[in-house]
Amino acid sequence: MHIAVYGCGQLAQMMIQAAQPLGHTASFIREDGEDTVCVKDLGNIVLRSELTSDDALKAFLADVDVMTVEKEQVNLEFLRRCAQFVTVHPNPNAVEICGDRWKEKSTLRSLDIPVTDFFDYANPPVEPTHSPLGYIAKSCRDGYDGKHQHRVKTWDELAQLPLQGVALGDWIVEAMVPFDFEFSVVGCRDQAGNIAMYSAIENEHVDGILRRSVTPSNRLPVGLRLEAETYLSRLLDHWGYVGVLTMECFAVNGSMMVNELAPRVHNSGHWSMFNTAASQFENHIRGVTGMILTEPTYQGVRGMLNLVGSDDIPAVAKDNPDISVVLYGKSVRPGRKVGHINVQNDDPGVVKKLLDQLEAAVYPSADG
Ligand code: AMP
Repeated sequence: MHIAVYGCGQLAQMMIQAAQPLGHTASFIREDGEDTVCVKDLGNIVLRSELTSDDALKAFLADVDVMTVEKEQVNLEFLRRCAQFVTVHPNPNAVEICGDRWKEKSTLRSLDIPVTDFFDYANPPVEPTHSPLGYIAKSCRDGYDGKHQHRVKTWDELAQLPLQGVALGDWIVEAMVPFDFEFSVVGCRDQAGNIAMYSAIENEHVDGILRRSVTPSNRLPVGLRLEAETYLSRLLDHWGYVGVLTMECFAVNGSMMVNELAPRVHNSGHWSMFNTAASQFENHIRGVTGMILTEPTYQGVRGMLNLVGSDDIPAVAKDNPDISVVLYGKSVRPGRKVGHINVQNDDPGVVKKLLDQLEAAVYPSADG
């Protein structure tokens, strides 16, 4: 099949690298100014603004069997226009909801899935909500990796934020959650409704950006994992979703709440790239192209460290059969994800030690 991917980043790269051995080919749709280095050898790249007329769009989509997305910050009008001419997975409604924190949290709540307390910045409750750890204001759209957020300690400080005059639905405020740890679940649904669930992942973030992951997590009780998987399945079925959907969660004192959703393959699922029956990328492609999913079995313990702002490979990563380095080919800039390092071993202690060593080498001045 020929797959059109909306987006040209590393997720598009890894999806299509998984698609090619299955016999699929790809084209990519880019925005003005979008860096396309990740996908430069993987298919032709078209500019979205060149597809404004129906004739141009139809001509481009004539060879396309299915379209998918690698990010939630997409032009929804364009995605919906494409859906008139070609199958789009996941469906644009799910992409819209996951790309808007207000709609996302409201949907989760309506499906009885626990979320952080939240309210609209432009319509705060009369009485302050109780939150000993303070508050976090988040832009409803275009926020990712901790961008477009403000953290404050007190209720009164909320009024001082440079957000005066924002409209209803533009910014939400959440109570800061005293979470014990963060975890995510990555699941893939195929066109027949079968779901392949990846092993839940414990995640550590620094400055709002994922730093490292491990699965299985020895801190995540089985009951909580099953609860999270039930919620993710509920969402997948509710939307008739096809492809990978990721749910990021907080574990709080034996219970859980969802922080956010990503309608796509996810950084916390990168551990599945090697020596897993099917990676998140492969199963996503299988799902959207109408193939049967592969149960994502694997052995041992898996870890992943992101390379953010540096592509220097630590000495410990070299010639170690337990370690695989993936570089996306991007130029290095502060705060930019340019690759990741996967670690695997049967012994959780070895995986932790390797991740600690790698992290200390990649982030020498960091405390975590
Ligand atoms: P987000 O952009 O919502 O994924 O937030 C990025 C990171 O900020 C999360 O992974 C958490 O580490 C932290 N964070 C976000 N929202 C909250 C919250 N309500 N309480 C505590 N930490 C949060």
